Amino acid sequence: MYPETIELLIDGVWCQGSDGKSEPLINPATEEVLATVPHVTEADLDRALAASLKGFKLWKTMTAMQRWAIMDKAADLIEQRKETIARVLTMENGKALAEATGEVQFAADATRWYAEEGKRAYGRIVPARLPGVRQMVFKEPVGPVVAFAAWNFPASNVIRKISGALGAGCSIILKPAEETPGTAVAIARCFQDAGLPAGVLNIVFGEPAKVSSYLIASPIPKKVSLTGSTAVGKLLQKQAADTLKRCTMELGGHAPVIVYEDADLDKTLDTLVAFKFRNAGQVCTSPTRFYVHDAIYDRFIEGFASRAEKLKIGDGLDANVQMGPMIAPRRLDAMDGFVSDATAKGASVVTGGKRIGKKGYFYAPTLLKNVPDAARIMSEEPFGPIAPTTTFSTFDGMIERANSLPYGLASFVFTRNLSLAQKTEMALEAGMVGVNHMMVSTPETPFGGVNESGYGSESGIEGLDAYLRTKFVTEM
Ligand code: NAD
Repeated sequence: MYPETIELLIDGVWCQGSDGKSEPLINPATEEVLATVPHVTEADLDRALAASLKGFKLWKTMTAMQRWAIMDKAADLIEQRKETIARVLTMENGKALAEATGEVQFAADATRWYAEEGKRAYGRIVPARLPGVRQMVFKEPVGPVVAFAAWNFPASNVIRKISGALGAGCSIILKPAEETPGTAVAIARCFQDAGLPAGVLNIVFGEPAKVSSYLIASPIPKKVSLTGSTAVGKLLQKQAADTLKRCTMELGGHAPVIVYEDADLDKTLDTLVAFKFRNAGQVCTSPTRFYVHDAIYDRFIEGFASRAEKLKIGDGLDANVQMGPMIAPRRLDAMDGFVSDATAKGASVVTGGKRIGKKGYFYAPTLLKNVPDAARIMSEEPFGPIAPTTTFSTFDGMIERANSLPYGLASFVFTRNLSLAQKTEMALEAGMVGVNHMMVSTPETPFGGVNESGYGSESGIEGLDAYLRTKFVTEM
């Protein structure tokens, strides 16, 4: 049974939408209806906006130590409820239970980190030009925040927004994805049970375009934070311009992976296959363009295919399963479209390339060989379990291709040669570079993109700074 009831959280009260509208929540592994997701009305959003203003006024005047105490308790509760929250996450998102459990642990860790870092939102004293003058720079919370999060990391996408905002002293209205509402609700219950004052954290669901345009048009929120697609990022940024709200945009990616001739091939393949098919490839930092040195390409293809074919696919609740379903049937059609386009343009399917079974939205781990740069999958974000590969022979030619897209989120390099790694790191247009491993996301390091992958990091000191503004005071 699905262990969560989906409700809205407005001004500290769990409730349904005031006109009773809702949508069904589907388990992508079984296609069963798990629950119903209530939709807000404009009147509900007005209440959430008023609550966020009231919550902000209270929360910002509490000391960082008081905020830390509540957030630290919330982190303990997230950790205590980790197994149940991970089940909720797997049932609504599909990912393997071990991945879901790790993600919920990340939520607890990130909450502790932001709570601690909130104590260190230091200002500074600047020496004055005139005698008797004191010049002080303060960091203040920016104000109430509105935030929108994608379904692919139902815990970590939302916690970076909740704990980032709360750690800085902001209140927040969060709209998690309607596809994965229960994880956010379960996490919000931890904050409520830890004693968070009413109105500081509000959770809403509804029709995304209506909810976001209504909230962003209001003068109450002072900041917009989105984790989602580049297309929606551009739209929300335009809407935010009318009230000059600050934005953090965590958007789409299309990560190049460069595998040099001297890479430790077995280790590289183990890492790449694990990361490519994590969450069925529905990861913004997922490796999506494989540039492999032509001297090792045949061995690379053979080793990748044999590993991919051994993966166990199924319902993520099964402890042996390594890769679950895609989020929705439309994504299966998208995968078929990428494969047929690439093969029509000269690529070949080494393994996979098709849907698995008739129940649940499963797609086979897929390896494409000799994919031309003109194939759609080399420029459109695949967001699925397909590894398109190609070869390179010269550094300059490869870097030009790696940097040829408007995206710039993650990128990866595999080599034993440190100076070559450093030369590559510096040349890549990306917000994050992983060398010989792919763990680019931790609570204490900045996570974010450049160019059309967005701007404004989450996590790290940058993540807290995104919710702070500067005030200069001079006294005589
Ligand atoms: P999406 O842009 O469709 O939706 C993201 C969120 O925005 C959802 O909560 C959605 O309901 C909401 N939203 C608000 N206004 C909307 C509007 N006008 N129209 C549609 N949605 C609106 O993204 P998605 O398909 O749910 O998620 C996948 C995308 O998210 C991929 O591009 C992926 O790379 C990206 N992503 C980025 C990061 C990152 O940190 N850079 C992390 C995870 C996912």
